[in-house]
Parts: sequence; structure tokens; C-alpha cells
Amino acid sequence: MSEDFFDVIVVGAGIIGASTAFYLKKQGVSNVLLLERNQIASGGTGKSAAIVRSYYSVPVMARLAKEAVNLFHNLEEEIGTNGGFNNTGFTVLVSPEWLDKAKEVISMNNKLGINSEFIPEREWENTLPWLNPEGVGAVVYEKDSGYADPVQTTEGFVKAFKNLGGVFKERTAVRELIRKGDSIDGVILESGKIFSEAVVNAAGPWSKFLAEGVELELPIVSVREQDSIWQFRTKKGMPNSPVANQIEATYMRPMGDGRWLLGRGYPKDYYECDPYNFKESGDEEFLDDLYKRCCERIPGLQGSKMINSYASLYDVTPDWIPFVGPRDGIRGYFDASGGSGHAFKTGPIFARELAEWITKDKVKDDFRQFSFDRIKNNQMFNQSFGGNRV
Ligand SMILES: Cc1cc2nc3c(=O)[nH]c(=O)nc-3n(C[C@H](O)[C@H](O)[C@H](O)COP(=O)(O)OP(=O)(O)OC[C@H]3O[C@@H](n4cnc5c(N)ncnc54)[C@H](O)[C@@H]3O)c2cc1C
Repeated sequence: MSEDFFDVIVVGAGIIGASTAFYLKKQGVSNVLLLERNQIASGGTGKSAAIVRSYYSVPVMARLAKEAVNLFHNLEEEIGTNGGFNNTGFTVLVSPEWLDKAKEVISMNNKLGINSEFIPEREWENTLPWLNPEGVGAVVYEKDSGYADPVQTTEGFVKAFKNLGGVFKERTAVRELIRKGDSIDGVILESGKIFSEAVVNAAGPWSKFLAEGVELELPIVSVREQDSIWQFRTKKGMPNSPVANQIEATYMRPMGDGRWLLGRGYPKDYYECDPYNFKESGDEEFLDDLYKRCCERIPGLQGSKMINSYASLYDVTPDWIPFVGPRDGIRGYFDASGGSGHAFKTGPIFARELAEWITKDKVKDDFRQFSFDRIKNNQMFNQSFGGNRV
């Protein structure tokens, strides 16, 4: 193997790049190089709430999410670590305006084999003693879902990749891609050029700049996403699972030791920011508002103490669904970014199907729509709920 030629170079060791590199090796590609500018999971992946759920209204996303849940149940077998996966279940508090849509989603999800159901209202008092039920349209519960440790999961993929003979270099930034006519032929590092048959651009919010550097359009916008960790003192008990609350637009998930992660869900204001220079701490006003919203639905939270808050990035595409796959007319280039705030869980499944697309030039029919070409083909995804609640 020559040092400066690889079959595939993957740029970025977030969840998508790390798992793509792993699946390329698993599917038999000889020489794969994974490059990371900083450290494993140092982008949005490392700060992810890492909730692993299947409640999607877009059928292909529900299919991928179902496969993701299944993968997390079997992750240890696949990569040698369980990625800190906790199968706690997942609860959705449905707002009355989304009740009809929720019924459609559950019916579609059940047909795909997703284990989700409505908790009947008569059972709420007993099973959800923490809940203020006022204004709740329905409660959905997914038994097989939960949450994972995003760093452990991503490190697990890199380790498994290396065990299969993959080459990983951290603190190695790609300055530019190499383009010759309509072919992407490798990458330029500070130390020089490395050539390859194919390059996967999995650089998250920064993928846009790599693409634009070789005149490939990539309409991804970076927005801050704030999460916070709280110590609860409630005597009324807490949910057993992560909760997505559509009414006050919040989400939460356990962190262990009486601590919970709280964040704001869609709809809320999003402001474009510079991914090379953004405020990484939380905003006081945002946190006050978040706390009020959470206490409204879970009154026992009054008196909780905030331990930490931070902001990371969502890399958002125009329809809030990633760009994954090749593009017409460009040889040797594959998109794998634009997670839009919900691609931790599905990252490894996008990766598995992308690796098949790269190695066999074959892909499931419903997966083709993820290509960037959906823009020119007028095949953008239709969102039902808006934002990252696709
Ligand atoms: C606060 C927060 C909460 C979230 N909660 C959830 C959730 O509950 N469930 C869920 O499914 N999803 C969630 N998400 C979304 C999910 O975490 C992301 O969609 C996913 O992690 C994106 O992974 P990625 O690999 O595409 O990008 P990133 O994690 O951003 O990885 C890109 C990597 O590329 C590297 N890189 C960039 N430029 C270069 C270069 N030039 N050369 C080399 N390397 C480079 C970066 O350093 C980075 O490590 C959340 C996201 C955030 C921010």
C-alpha cells in the first residue's frame, strides 16, 4: 500500500465519518483513511443528546431509525462496545394540534415493525405521575428506544475500523479537496497531497467549506443548539425515559446520578452562525425560558439546580434531512453531512447504506433521495412536523 494513495478517504470523525469508515472496511475496501482535524467526536457528535428513537413521520427516516434502534441493541456484537446504550424507552407528549398526525405516524411506524403505542389517558396518573396532563393531546411510548453515549459510540466505531486495518489520523485537517475536471482525486493536507479513488465529505458543519472550495455547492447552514444539565430534587419522581414534549417544545433525557439533560425542541428561533467562531456557552435568557417550560409540564422540577450548559452546532440542510451519496456528473465524491440535529442515531445506518453505494454502486431505492441531486431533481423531502422533528 502506498502511503499517499487510498481507495477511500473519509474526512471527519464524527458519528457519520467514523461509522462510514468502519462500514467501508467491513464491506471489504482495502485501504481506507479516516482524517480528523481535531479529536474523535469533537464536533456536534460529542455534545449530542444522543437520544435514539424511531418516531419519524417521513417513512424512509422511520425505516432508518428503526434499523438504528436495532443496531444499538446489537452494537456490542457489531463493534465491540455497546456505546453506552440505555434501552429506557422514549416518550412523546403530543400536542392536541398534532394528534391526527401522531395517529398516522404510529400506524405507519407499526407497519414498519416499530414497537410504539399510545398510553391511554386513563393510565397517565399511574404510569406518568410526574406529568401535568393539562393540554396534552396524547402520549406515545416507544419501548425499544433510549439513549447512548455519543463519544463512546463514535470511539467504538473508530476502534473497530482500526481493528479491521483502517488508518486513522487525528489532528490532521484537510485544507482542500483535489479536483481535476469533474473528478475529486484526493485531499490536500498541510503535509502534502493524498490521492484516492473516492472522498467522503463527512465534515459536519464544515463540509460546506470543503465542497465549496472545489466549486461544489452544499447548502448547509450552521445553527447553535443549546443543552443544559440539571440536578433534580423532585419527590414526585421523574420519567424513566427521554421525553420529547411537543407542547412546550422541549426535550430531556437522563444523565445518571439524579441529573438530566434539558434542551429546547422545534419550533424555536434558529440563527445562522459561523462554525469556526460561535459562542459555546449557554445563554442566560434561553436557560431561564427552558427551565420555566420544563417546570410547566413537570411541576416537581421546581428548585432544580443547573450544573452546566453549552452550545454546539446543528448542520442544517434546506429540508432538515442529510445529504448522503454521490452526485451526478462528479466522480469520486460522496456527501455525508447535514445531519440537521437528528443524525446521531441514524448516522451509522446512513453510513452502512452509503458504504454499499460506494463499494457496490448499488443502493436501496428509497435511499437514493438522500443524494444532493434531490435539489435539482425537485425531490426535496416533505416535512410533517418541521425542524428536526421530521
Ligand atoms: C446539542 C445537540 C443535541 C443533539 N441531540 C441529538 C439526539 O438526541 N439524537 C440524534 O439522533 N441526534 C442529535 N443531534 C444531532 C447529531 O448529534 C448530529 O447530527 C451528528 O452527531 C452529526 O455527526 P457528523 O459526523 O455529521 O458531524 P460532526 O459531529 O460535526 O463531525 C464532523 C467532524 O469533522 C471534523 N472536521 C471538520 N472539518 C474538517 C477538516 N477540514 N479536516 C478534517 N476533519 C474535519 C470535525 O472536527 C468533526 O469532528 C444533536 C446535536 C447537537 C449539537
